[in-house]
Amino acid sequence: MTFTTTSGVGVEIIDRRLKRPPGALNEVLLEDTCTGCGDCMDVCPSGIILLDRNRFPLLLSSSLCSGCGLCAEVCTPDAIILTDATRAALMRLLEAERKAT
Ligand code: SF4
Ligand code: SF4
Repeated sequence: MTFTTTSGVGVEIIDRRLKRPPGALNEVLLEDTCTGCGDCMDVCPSGIILLDRNRFPLLLSSSLCSGCGLCAEVCTPDAIILTDATRAALMRLLEAERKAT
């Protein structure tokens, strides 16, 4: 099965236990909500979001997900939403950025 990476290069995925990013809606709601824009894939600092054949987001590696919440933050139609954990992580990230400027 081939997916699109941030670089636009197709990669063959053999791990069929792939998951959605944290806070992603369930499969039925995702179908109605996700526009396939790829913004979550572009923003992920770990580069671990791919788009499946329906252009829905997949996690390449759960263990490499920091739970930063950026994928939910950029998802305009709310196909990925902030969880308590990712909201807290995002707040910490934004606070660190604010202090650095
Ligand atoms: S940012 Fe949201 S709408 Fe766009 S591909 Fe990702 S999950 Fe789908
Ligand atoms: S929570 Fe952060 S690291 Fe995890 S998939 Fe989303 S953007 Fe990537």
